[in-house]
Amino acid sequence: MERLVLFDIDGTLVRTQNGYVPFNEAIFQSFGIAGDIRTVVPDGNTDPHIVEEIFAAAKVDISIADEHWERFATNLRLSYANAVRKGTMTVRALPGVLELLRALSANKRFGQGVVTGNFAVTARVKLETAGLSSYLRLGAYGSDSPHRPALPSIAKKRWEQATGKSIRAEHCFIIGDTPKDLDAARQNQMKCILVGTGRYPVEELMFWQPDACLSDLVDTAEVLKTLLNLS
Ligand SMILES: [Mg+2]
Repeated sequence: MERLVLFDIDGTLVRTQNGYVPFNEAIFQSFGIAGDIRTVVPDGNTDPHIVEEIFAAAKVDISIADEHWERFATNLRLSYANAVRKGTMTVRALPGVLELLRALSANKRFGQGVVTGNFAVTARVKLETAGLSSYLRLGAYGSDSPHRPALPSIAKKRWEQATGKSIRAEHCFIIGDTPKDLDAARQNQMKCILVGTGRYPVEELMFWQPDACLSDLVDTAEVLKTLLNLS
């Protein structure tokens, strides 16, 4: 029986350093207003909500139309790509991630994809920079909906369309690093494994009672065993 594993990106698959610089640059380019992502807690949130929270924290009254989000996503993609090229921002796969994605892709019992608050175009920059994009072609993104709990079912549907198979929600797993990943999984009747490689240590994540908690994704055999035990 097949399982679909849906990974969050930031804090779960990769660690980005100095991503705030291109993010703030793209805010100013897109909206003509200075905003600073360091004034909010972005973890587990979608990029559109992060920008709205930044403006709310700065008491900037602005309503953003759909076409402006497209412009912001385009500017952010360019800013990220420039920062990566200049070496001012780094995006690195977290320990064990590449080995885990390889193992899952070689195992016929598993399909894999992403569920992330990043826009699709910026998720691609991060995954390519970290050397993971060939394993994660499919997913749902902050550009599909700013409401994170709407994303898992979009990713599931895309996987079903791409493979021509159907999968039950209880055979889908969200692997993330925040209570928001867990909430999105629960709202879609999916299982959730939280990892302590983001902002929250394992002890704090356990409080939220995910289906399983791991300190990291280093031990491929342990992750696979956890996934199979929960199925
Ligand atoms: Mg995350």
